[in-house]
Amino acid sequence: MKTMEQVLKDWEAVIGLEVHCELTKLETKMFCGCKLEFGAEPNTHTCPVCLGLPGALPVPNRAAIENIVLAGLATNCEIEKHTMFYRKGYMYPDMAKNFQTTQGPKAFCMRGHLDLSMDGRGADERLFWKDLDQGEVSENMTRTADGYVAHVGITRIHMEEDAGKMVHIGGEEGRIAGATHSLVDYNRAGTPLIELVTEPDLRTPEEARQFMQKLRSIFLALGISDCSMEEGSLRADGNISLRRRGTTKFGTKTELKNINSFKSLHDGLAYEICRQAEVLEEGGVIYQETRHWDPAKKRTIVMRVKETADDYRMFPDPDLAPYDLTDEFIESVRAKLPELPDQKAARFATDFGLSAYDSQHLVDNPDIATFFEECMACAKGDAAKLAKPLANLAINDIAAYLNANPETALADCALTPVRALELVRLLAEEAISSKQGKEVFQAVLEEDADPASIVEARGMKQVSDTGAIEAVVDSVLAEFPDKVEQYRGGKKGLIGFFVGQCMKQMRGQGNPKLINEMLSSKLDA
Ligand code: ADP
Ligand code: ZN
Ligand code: MG
Repeated sequence: MKTMEQVLKDWEAVIGLEVHCELTKLETKMFCGCKLEFGAEPNTHTCPVCLGLPGALPVPNRAAIENIVLAGLATNCEIEKHTMFYRKGYMYPDMAKNFQTTQGPKAFCMRGHLDLSMDGRGADERLFWKDLDQGEVSENMTRTADGYVAHVGITRIHMEEDAGKMVHIGGEEGRIAGATHSLVDYNRAGTPLIELVTEPDLRTPEEARQFMQKLRSIFLALGISDCSMEEGSLRADGNISLRRRGTTKFGTKTELKNINSFKSLHDGLAYEICRQAEVLEEGGVIYQETRHWDPAKKRTIVMRVKETADDYRMFPDPDLAPYDLTDEFIESVRAKLPELPDQKAARFATDFGLSAYDSQHLVDNPDIATFFEECMACAKGDAAKLAKPLANLAINDIAAYLNANPETALADCALTPVRALELVRLLAEEAISSKQGKEVFQAVLEEDADPASIVEARGMKQVSDTGAIEAVVDSVLAEFPDKVEQYRGGKKGLIGFFVGQCMKQMRGQGNPKLINEMLSSKLDA
């Protein structure tokens, strides 16, 4: 198979997401008063409504509707005042009613959008943006200083309910194949869910990942869900098709179901791009089907051929009256909107003089944003001076550490705000080099110790004494006279070689900035 980079030269990917989010912060279910509790004894939170017993009447959960309106307002949706609940045919033992209650053509939230700031390696999957001038627009993309902004339409956000859970006994890995019997737990049946559907506006797997990440940080800020992709309270289906560059008609799409991590979303879509291109280039056709991404085998396999909307036999639920939202209600929800990630980023930029790049990346992960603010509060008078090095530590080292250890919560790490500040101070004062900084960062996490005492114990102090540095610089220049000649003859790249030699003599503890300056002043003299 060709690489995605090769494929994307000739083909354009068209991607749309369907995101499910469980409203885990609510007390009770969508249409009854049963308690929402993860991990309770099976079938202890059920009643005639969520068991679908004859004659039981559903009543919508007002708090759930507040949650979905919050989600809609935070994603620039129009709130639809007059909507209805529908029944969608569903035949499986985990939903005793035999239908799922959902929303019809009009959902509570319609026609929204999110803007994604793409930069660095994340931007590079979308070819050709570098051909644009800053501020220039092409399709849904606007060129910025470090990359581009992608404008992604949100078709709708609707309300629905989750099904219960089946447990298969006797089969391999809990699968139904080979099982002797199955049990069903209705505790989850009727859990309020919102589903957000995007327009097919995404063009790269990286944009899809960023969209999910941004949505997650918005939902976390709203406090409507714990948004755990591992535990399934946030799940995405990725729809994807290809079209030849320069053409406008959409190709046939496939759908990747129940993706449970940001990485899988990216890698699954990237694989589909390569697979579909191979099929199409060999003259084959893409079937509209649902596929499953297997992260271990790194491929997608067919789950089922797509059913059409008609198969669901949707019709208005006669047990639920049409739902009218008042202006007062919508405004009361709007008043509850917290500071959203984009607003937080703007505030970081103004308050701490950070670049758009730094402040955007700080809010990618809400835990990191909170941590950064705690550090800044501790820094008091030094906040302005330490903001930039602290942002570097947060965006690079801390983010990489959390990505590598998804089970770990930043709040439980040995790196407290006080320790982070201490480390950043050592760096800002050039007491240690940036390379040593990385070592201290790891050591703080592993040894649960303060940066200053680690530096002390390992004898890591960076040498900034100009006399000591000058002696080393002189000895290196004396050792390599031929290289000095080449440098003076125009081979300026050799500066790196000289710095390396000095560092070697100083066992990595020399201040690289001072060494550089000293070398330049002697070589260019
Ligand atoms: P379906 O009827 O198969 O559910 P929808 O029109 O409801 O399809 O769209 C479902 C999702 O698929 C949306 O996120 C939409 O943006 C996306 N989508 C629709 N058509 C395409 C296409 N040709 N290629 C990629 N994504 C698509
Ligand atoms: Zn119930
Ligand atoms: Mg659909």
